[in-house]
Amino acid sequence: MSTTYIGRFAPSPTGPLHAGSLVAAVASYLDARAHQGQWLVRIEDIDEGRSVPGADRAILALLDALGMHSDREVVWQSRRTPLYRAAADKLGVHAYPCGCNRREIRDSRLGVAPDGAAIYPGTCRPGLAPGRAMRSLRLRVPDAGADAITFIDRFAGPQTQYLASESGDFVLLRADGYWAYQLVVVVDDAEQGITDIVRGADLIDSTARQIYLQRLLGVATPRYLHVPVVRNAQGEKLSKQTGALAVLPGDEPAAIAALTDAARFLGLPLERPASLAAFWQAAIPAWSAMLAQQEARAPGTSRQAAC
Ligand code: GLU
Repeated sequence: MSTTYIGRFAPSPTGPLHAGSLVAAVASYLDARAHQGQWLVRIEDIDEGRSVPGADRAILALLDALGMHSDREVVWQSRRTPLYRAAADKLGVHAYPCGCNRREIRDSRLGVAPDGAAIYPGTCRPGLAPGRAMRSLRLRVPDAGADAITFIDRFAGPQTQYLASESGDFVLLRADGYWAYQLVVVVDDAEQGITDIVRGADLIDSTARQIYLQRLLGVATPRYLHVPVVRNAQGEKLSKQTGALAVLPGDEPAAIAALTDAARFLGLPLERPASLAAFWQAAIPAWSAMLAQQEARAPGTSRQAAC
């Protein structure tokens, strides 16, 4: 098995796995196997308030039932907080305490980021005003006019994002005391040596923030591939509350059905196979062939590193 490709699936245990998260799991697994790489599972339970007790175990059991096994021991973010503190300390002057609450930020009407969050107006950049207590820790991003962050997404092609106008100074440590997703995902991906991130397109807007953090922390930028998000008939992204997958351990027909649906959603022309082993045997080369076709259509996208 190669160590030049290390991929991962990083579910948040906010409920059972649903068809949307299965697509991300299957895509990341197929890509790792197609590159003879390793595939790791990381439970992103840093936000303990949103984590549902037992959902982590249910997700891991389901992955097992589907034939997807982590090549290393599974890690839980909630057990790794010293790593996040150390990274925040390393950011030094790039990080600053902020005393603003959500209403104050919204009222500044600087605009909203693509993920719907109000863009921070920079009120606490010069320091906390006298009498203001720290609520969160923010990262100072380059001012408007600075170079854009660019990267090549292996599925969506070249991407350009401007941090000042598209995210603003973003939160590293939240007002509720939890480390924020953007920081922990960068720390974990670096610490686990992840070379390739394959995940849902709902996270493509976060990628520039993560690349900026990687640069400040002096860690490598992985390659990225964002797969389309599964939506319901109303066009809404599937949430963990809807459509939980019901695949019991040992129920091979249900496992095959769920996997075949996910593979077809990803564009793999698969007939329903007779066994779980036959599914993976067919799906891995089909994934490689699809990437090769894409590479032929748009040279340079399918294995190029971020720049
Ligand atoms: N934990 C995130 C989720 O379940 C995925 C994060 C990532 O892949 O970067 O949506």
